[in-house]
Amino acid sequence: MLAEIITIGDELLIGQVTDTNSVFIAKQLNKIGISVYQITSIQDDKSHILKALRDAENNVDIVILTGGLGPTKDDITKKTIVEYFNDTLVKNASVLKNIEYIWKHYVGGALLQANKDQALVPSKAQILMNKLGTAPGMWLEKDDKVFVSLPGVPYEMNALIENQVIPKLKDKYNCPFILHKTLLVYGLGESALADRIASWEDALPKHIKLAYLPNLGKMRLRLSAKGDEKEQVEEDVQKEIDKVLPLIKEEFFGFEDEEGSVEIIIAKHLTKIGKTLAIAESCTGGTVAERFTVNSGASAYFNGGVVTYSTESKINVLNVLREDIETYSVVSSQVVESMAKNALQLFQSDFAIATTGNAGPTKGDSDAEVGTVFIAIATKTGVYSEKFNFGNHRVKVISKAVNKALEILLK
Ligand code: ATP
Ligand code: MG
Repeated sequence: MLAEIITIGDELLIGQVTDTNSVFIAKQLNKIGISVYQITSIQDDKSHILKALRDAENNVDIVILTGGLGPTKDDITKKTIVEYFNDTLVKNASVLKNIEYIWKHYVGGALLQANKDQALVPSKAQILMNKLGTAPGMWLEKDDKVFVSLPGVPYEMNALIENQVIPKLKDKYNCPFILHKTLLVYGLGESALADRIASWEDALPKHIKLAYLPNLGKMRLRLSAKGDEKEQVEEDVQKEIDKVLPLIKEEFFGFEDEEGSVEIIIAKHLTKIGKTLAIAESCTGGTVAERFTVNSGASAYFNGGVVTYSTESKINVLNVLREDIETYSVVSSQVVESMAKNALQLFQSDFAIATTGNAGPTKGDSDAEVGTVFIAIATKTGVYSEKFNFGNHRVKVISKAVNKALEILLK
């Protein structure tokens, strides 16, 4: 079963709004075994919408459109659908009721004609009632092909997809079972990893596909399998995982879907053993701390952190010795190690992580080469640091430093 997602809206094509709708829809379709053949974004323009519909009808079984169902003149998807299906608009009493309800409870004031008109729907459409907004979703069929038109507002669209579109698609098509399992691998580049697992990859059964998804020092290795029986697919994938894990013993850190990211694995572990963490950052500017605090439950193990960006702040806040900075440079193992040790003290924690480096593009406060980063981990019994060079692209240097810091902490 093949699908195309068509997102409609001028705002998508001028870069004002990122098309997150198709990401969401693709994920949901994939879960029930429907492959997305193509994702298209087009303007609120009748001839473009008609052309996209024609093309999609030729290529796929299921077409899902989002956007352009609003009450304003620029929203023309509904009118265009009526034309495409040679249909007419009819008033739908339940939709009107829903609009009146939403208006009364969430908007207030007199109901405008433009909103009442949202209860006009193509006569051939099955209505997907939108409890969160005034534009209903519409389901149309033509020669056994399905066309679904949904509002563009992401949370309205999400609810309609999850609660109505997916169940209806599952009903209509006998969907196969699809399983994705993503392994998180740290500290191996794409080609080094590929080389390491080459013979296993070559022997993979045909119904299991492998994808490498590298991202600044961390790698996601995704196994995707398809089959009629859920249990069989799960067993087949597990067999392959059991074969590959011994090959990446040192570098494997968990499964993305179950454990989430490496920081979640660390967080769970620290919470479990009742130990705490402190963070002292320079070149990473608070990003290491943010990676932890963005997830709920951080207060169980995260005591606190500082961003000591200037040399003076390293001295004043973290008691790094001026003498060390003058002797060894502010980007040095001596300095990063005292940052970690002193953060451990300052925040009374069991572990501390520290970063200092030069993310570029120019040399800045130290003589260190652009891209040089030192990372240290302190515990109550010792301190350990490593030196890296992460290249000359500032944003990449910072991201790689953060990923590496987390990786070292995990070890
Ligand atoms: P409404 O009833 O709210 O007018 P609509 O179907 O007309 O619904 P649009 O006007 O196209 O929806 O979009 C409403 C808002 O939803 C846009 O301002 C935009 O922020 C967001 N949006 C639309 N399409 C997308 C998309 N593909 N990805 C992410 N956000 C989107
Ligand atoms: Mg729009």
